[in-house]
Amino acid sequence: MNPGDNYIAGRWQPSWSGATYENVGPMRPAEALGIFADSAQEDAAAAVEAAARAFPGWAALPAATRGGFLASAAAHLAERAEAVARDMTEEMGKPLRESRGEVRRAVQILEFFAGEAYRPVGELFEQAANGGQVSTRRRPVGVAALITPWNFPCAIPTWKLAPALVYGNTVVLKPALESPATALHVARAFDDAGLPDGVLNVLTGRGATVGAALVREVRVGAISFTGSVETGTRVRDEATSLGKRVQLELGGQNPLIVMADADLERAAEAAYAGAYFAAGQKCTATRRIYVQSEAYDAFRALLVRRMASGRVGDPLDPSVEVGPIVNETQLADVLAAIERGKAEGATVLAGGHRLESDGLLVAPTLFEGVRDDAFLSCEEVFGPVASLYRFKSLDEALARANAVRFGLSAAIFTTNLATATRFLAEAQAGLLHVNSQTAGADVHVPFGGIKGSGFGPHEQGRAALEFYTDLVTTYVDP
Ligand code: NAD
Repeated sequence: MNPGDNYIAGRWQPSWSGATYENVGPMRPAEALGIFADSAQEDAAAAVEAAARAFPGWAALPAATRGGFLASAAAHLAERAEAVARDMTEEMGKPLRESRGEVRRAVQILEFFAGEAYRPVGELFEQAANGGQVSTRRRPVGVAALITPWNFPCAIPTWKLAPALVYGNTVVLKPALESPATALHVARAFDDAGLPDGVLNVLTGRGATVGAALVREVRVGAISFTGSVETGTRVRDEATSLGKRVQLELGGQNPLIVMADADLERAAEAAYAGAYFAAGQKCTATRRIYVQSEAYDAFRALLVRRMASGRVGDPLDPSVEVGPIVNETQLADVLAAIERGKAEGATVLAGGHRLESDGLLVAPTLFEGVRDDAFLSCEEVFGPVASLYRFKSLDEALARANAVRFGLSAAIFTTNLATATRFLAEAQAGLLHVNSQTAGADVHVPFGGIKGSGFGPHEQGRAALEFYTDLVTTYVDP
């Protein structure tokens, strides 16, 4: 077995054409990390065929048996957690301390969904006419295709495949081109758990070839996609026109509001972590920081001081907080957005440039004086770039925080209950935080955005049941 092979029908195999690609990481771009299958349409067809064949047998197993495979895969993943975390850090640049946390989270996700096997899958009613039995039940959809990004290369594939599998679907996973090794570790954990052949299949390669082929495959019934707005919109339009069920998790432009009554030290730490950890490459990262006038100068001083003491550098160093940007294209986009911010008249308070290094490092960047209609205020810049804004009243802060097309995450720092209550009622986002940063998500509760940040049912927790099952109503007369 070559460590870069695809996983199809329980076998490790090269791509149909034999094509491969060499992956490199963002900290040492001159060093090859591995050779991976460059899959194409034929591979997508083989994986979907394997998943379709495996489906009836898998769906017929007791849910608790399916859950047992998840629990076993969780144990195998936990055993090799350090190797997974290191591969993740090398291939996509997330600091090791966060990669370790992400693997732990993937293990928890598998454990949580193993337990979901024991939860109700329907409700019992009486028929109105005769008192006979009428009930609902959830049944699996069939073959689910999962298309995932590089920024949470272990957690996102896992939070899609765990519910898909436990509710009785079979899966074809297409991880991001940049992070194949991490996804293959997850497949290996299931292989070691003895998962029946074809229940989980993993294909590495390019979105435009193998990803697009999966979207077109007629035997795929459901597509769960996390990634950019542009690609997600294309995937949704094509898949829905073919009658498939689609779920999208897309970008964010997430605000953090700091009221004058807040604990400013805590708020500054949350702003730093939210905006700059993982080099800002989280869909839930903080991009806009609104600070009430009376506290603005004090908060700005705290945040700039925190930025000056932040550790930026080699993500394999466990003390580093901010690592590189994932690849040259994203680096160019981030640097262009910084230049655009300057050209549109904003002031750089910290950072604003690439660091001297072979690694793709950008200094954590903070702007102020950004207009509300400027690029940095409206669009997602997927890097360590955030802007500070001054506001007078809560009304104004909420209106400006809500004035974007995205609605993924929003946070407020305040000690006033009435302020927090209003924020929870009026902030336009799928994830709301009072006195914590915009990033971060528990494994057992729903995750997802509203407005332009998502499409379809939310992921994770019990919410996942909705996407990965059909709801059927059954009448039984005596
Ligand atoms: P991307 O859209 O470029 O890629 C996502 C996945 O889609 C990859 O696996 C890619 O290979 C595949 N793909 C590309 N073209 C395709 C096509 N034509 N057909 C089918 N699949 C195709 O996104 P990315 O750059 O990997 O990830 C960054 C983006 O993801 C950011 O915008 C970020 O906000 C978003 N994101 C959102 C969430 C969320 O939960 N809301 C979480 C993480 C990342």
